Amino acid sequence: MNKIAIIGFGGAGFCAAEEARRRDPKAVIDVYSDTDLGPYNPMLTTYYVKGAIPYDAMFPYGSLEEIREKLNLNIYTNRPVTGLDPANRTLRFADGSQAGYDNILISTGASAVAPPIPGMDLPGVLKMRTVKDAQELKQRLDSGAVKSGLVIGSSWVGIKVVEDLAVRDIPCTLIDGAPWMFYVAAFEESARRIQADLQHKGVSLSFNQMLERIEREDDGRLTAVTKSGDRFTADLIAVCIGVRTNTAFLKDSGVAMNRGVVVDKTMATNYPGVYAAGDCCEALDIQSGTHRNIGVWFNAQKQGRVAGANMTGGRMEFDANVLVNLAHYLDYDFISIGDVSACGPEDAVYEYEDARYYIRGVRNGGGVKCLNVIGSAESNGLLKNIFIKSIESPAAGIDIRSVCYLKDKGFPDSFIDFLGGKSVD
Ligand SMILES: Cc1cc2nc3c(=O)[nH]c(=O)nc-3n(C[C@H](O)[C@H](O)[C@H](O)COP(=O)(O)OP(=O)(O)OC[C@H]3O[C@@H](n4cnc5c(N)ncnc54)[C@H](O)[C@@H]3O)c2cc1C
Repeated sequence: MNKIAIIGFGGAGFCAAEEARRRDPKAVIDVYSDTDLGPYNPMLTTYYVKGAIPYDAMFPYGSLEEIREKLNLNIYTNRPVTGLDPANRTLRFADGSQAGYDNILISTGASAVAPPIPGMDLPGVLKMRTVKDAQELKQRLDSGAVKSGLVIGSSWVGIKVVEDLAVRDIPCTLIDGAPWMFYVAAFEESARRIQADLQHKGVSLSFNQMLERIEREDDGRLTAVTKSGDRFTADLIAVCIGVRTNTAFLKDSGVAMNRGVVVDKTMATNYPGVYAAGDCCEALDIQSGTHRNIGVWFNAQKQGRVAGANMTGGRMEFDANVLVNLAHYLDYDFISIGDVSACGPEDAVYEYEDARYYIRGVRNGGGVKCLNVIGSAESNGLLKNIFIKSIESPAAGIDIRSVCYLKDKGFPDSFIDFLGGKSVD
């Protein structure tokens, strides 16, 4: 009988368990979680803070009890795994006890980064990742005591916290160490438009601001001091400067790692029977041909399913790993697909703007390299698929259904041509 262990029960861990159970009704599936919560979707936490969804909606797969029963899992809560010995197929816990497995999935996700600076532990300085983080932020905002907010990090998470403040009419400042918004995903031209929109909506912005320390003022407010000496004072500070993979427990395990656990297309690591999926792993980025940690919900779920299938003797591959992000906030949508840093002066640039869209894309002989689209959240999936196809076969046009969809959404013929297709009337 196949004994499967799953470490970490988020989107990746749940999908792996579901797929493994679907394929092997007899497998023993042991789930080890460091919380007592059911698997939740971290991207919904800011919607909960905003009041757009109730608490339970953060848990898209149901309660832990429902999942346990439906999938016949042994779920061990508040049981963090502290070590892995892949040669002997055992994992370790803090109390010194061990457990065995035949196949194991590492799906421990990532944690919000807390920079090692003075003041990070002051009350009112928050991070944003977990349900607990969301509860604390919501409780502070609901109390009415927060009259101003400072968000550090113009990241995909940071912008959602800005939205949480803005919808409550709480004056908000967003600062970042980079020269412009969404620096790792946005062309400067796109960022200028995004920034203008935010400023129009009352958000103050400041860039090239590297955080140095956080101080408490005599009146209880908090001040972020940056390396340039500028001071930003607010009642609440949210630090949203990125994530770090939860992989410290794998130190000395021999499992190959860069920033995350290195996996192949089957989500297998360098050890037989050891798989990784979701935010903790680095899968092959089909654009750069290197391993890359691309922490998005789609990847976590799909990679979990692939691992779940392969842990039960199936054969599935994950081959859609490209940089992609969708920011949807304050009635504004920004899609970025591909690697903005890979674009250079030798590439062909496409730019288009009308009342509905701003589009900036870059391509060369190898296909589309990066796309920024402002104004169309619903086209994210289609554009990602077109992007992937353009990498796989740069000369191929886009299929007629996609062309029709894009035309129906009001995209110009010139954009369809840029993507490689022939527009139709
Ligand atoms: C505010 C916010 C907004 C986001 N917005 C988007 C978005 O718009 N679009 C998008 O695609 N993605 C978004 N994401 C990212 C997306 O939520 C993640 O990519 C995805 O949830 C990762 O799932 P996961 O299962 O890999 O990790 P996680 O959800 O982090 O789950 C990992 C689990 O493992 C547990 N764990 C860790 N270490 C151990 C251990 N040693 N032993 C046992 N258990 C352990 C953790 O506590 C956690 O429960 C957002 C994330 C946040 C926080």
